[in-house]
Parts: sequence; structure tokens; C-alpha cells
Amino acid sequence: MIIGSHVSFTKEQLLGSTKEALSYGANTFMFYTGAPQNTLRKEIDKNLTEEAYRLMKENNIDIKNVICHAPYIINLANRKEEEKWQFSIEFLKKELTRCDALGVSYLVLHPGSSVGLSKEEALQNIIDALNETLKNNYQCLILLETMAGKGTELGNLEDIKTIMTQVKHPLGVCLDTCHVNDAGYSLINFDEFLQEFNNTIGLSYLHCVHLNDSKNPCGSHKDRHANIGYGTIGFKTLETICYHDKLKDIPKILETPYVGETIEDKKRTYPPYYFEIKMLKERKFDDKLLEHIHEKYKELK
Ligand code: FE
Ligand code: FE
Ligand code: ZN
Repeated sequence: MIIGSHVSFTKEQLLGSTKEALSYGANTFMFYTGAPQNTLRKEIDKNLTEEAYRLMKENNIDIKNVICHAPYIINLANRKEEEKWQFSIEFLKKELTRCDALGVSYLVLHPGSSVGLSKEEALQNIIDALNETLKNNYQCLILLETMAGKGTELGNLEDIKTIMTQVKHPLGVCLDTCHVNDAGYSLINFDEFLQEFNNTIGLSYLHCVHLNDSKNPCGSHKDRHANIGYGTIGFKTLETICYHDKLKDIPKILETPYVGETIEDKKRTYPPYYFEIKMLKERKFDDKLLEHIHEKYKELK
């Protein structure tokens, strides 16, 4: 099983990310090259990258399974202001260059939000933007993420299929379990869902799974992640996805919320990943997640 979580990148770049992932008992991870809400980015440091490779090698982390996530502010769908659309394209190109410098194979990207445009126009803008971006050759492959359909967000299986068939360059897909649940695809019978995914997009394009529970029921279009086993998808289904034979070589990345005094508390929070990874490895739901997190992090309070 290839499993990890979202980790930070800001301290020592890839080296810091690797150290954090190891502290969670993970064998892969996902990072943003800077804050997900802005486009301020530092140069990639070669020495830190080399050191990260050494640490990964010592701990059996394969760089092929490491994922980068593009910032949310890139919106390829919106071309109402030409300069902003061009800025998104330029930023995406720089992000792919950074991924190539880091040796990272996959960059997860939200397809975009139509904000006032028709769905057809919005999809066309995404297609044009990707055709423009990918004129340059990058080693790193963009993975379009399945979205919850919150607000004017695009990114159900059909949208992704439309984009992929009209972009002239290779693309892949990242399946987010919370997002597809909220978009209205039931995961309870996961084989049925995989069949639908395979018929619409093709399983061979799937390169990453975001393994999240959801705070809301199927079809709610909300996009609020819950801790593993603490949401409406439930531990059993997430465990099935984690261990599914057809997904065994695909990295599973947790993007579940940090936990505070209560599961919902947002004031002073701690990462849940060590315990969530542990329960998935042991295939046993931990109904004392909160207590275990407090125990581990109490010295930090
Ligand atoms: Fe995402
Ligand atoms: Fe996600
Ligand atoms: Zn989400």
C-alpha cells in the first residue's frame, strides 16, 4: 500500500516534506510548493532536493509516488479577464518547471470554476489553456482532480473526459473520494463506481487517489473533508478503496482535517495522519482518534 498525506514544503522544501511524511509513518506524500492560496514561490534549492532524495532512498520512498498540488487560485476556466487567464497559464507553466526540477511526476490541478460563464465556454477555456501550457514539454504530468461541484466548479467524470479528449497532450486524473461522494457518485459499491470511471475516463489514466471521508451526504456538492471513518463514506468503504487490487500501485493521499480540542475545533490543531495511516495499515477503525492525537501532541500544548 502506497499511503501518505498532505505535508508542508515551506521549511526545508522537499527535505522538510520528506521528514514530515516519515513522522506520520507514510511512504509517500503530497505538497504545495508554497501557500495554496497565493503564488509567492521560492527557487527550488538543489542541495535540499538532493538531501531529500537520500532520505527518501533510506526509507523506501519512491519519488515516482510523490505528488505536487497546484494552488487553488489557478482558474483556467475563467477568461473574462484575459490577463488573469494568462497569469494562470504562466503560473501553471512555472509550477510544472518546479516539479521537473524536483523530479516529481504528478501535479494535481483543479479543472476550474465557470464563474458566470456557460459550462461550454468554461470547458473550452480549460482546454485552450491546457493546450497552450503543454506546448512546452514537461516530464511532470498534470492530473485533473475530480471535484465536488461546489458553486460553479467543473470536474465531474464527464467534464474531465471532455477536457481529456480535446487536449492534444497527455493528462491523467486524481480521484478525490470526498469530492466524488459530494458530486453524487456513490462509493458504497466501489466496483460499480470503478466500472463507471473506467467506462467514462479509463482506469489507466488514474494516478492518484485523495483518500478523504466527507462531512456531507452523497450529492451535497459541499466539499468538506472528514477524518477517516468519521464521515458519511465510512471506514469500510475507504479501507476497500485503499486495498483495492486495481488501485494497488496508486498513491493514496490523505487530506483530512487537523484536529483540535474536539474533532471540529479549529483553534489549536494537530495532524491526524499518523493515526489515520496506522488504522488503514492495521485495517481497524480507531474510534479514539481524538484521544490518541491529544496523547501524542500533549507536550506541544
Ligand atoms: Fe485538490
Ligand atoms: Fe483533493
Ligand atoms: Zn476538497
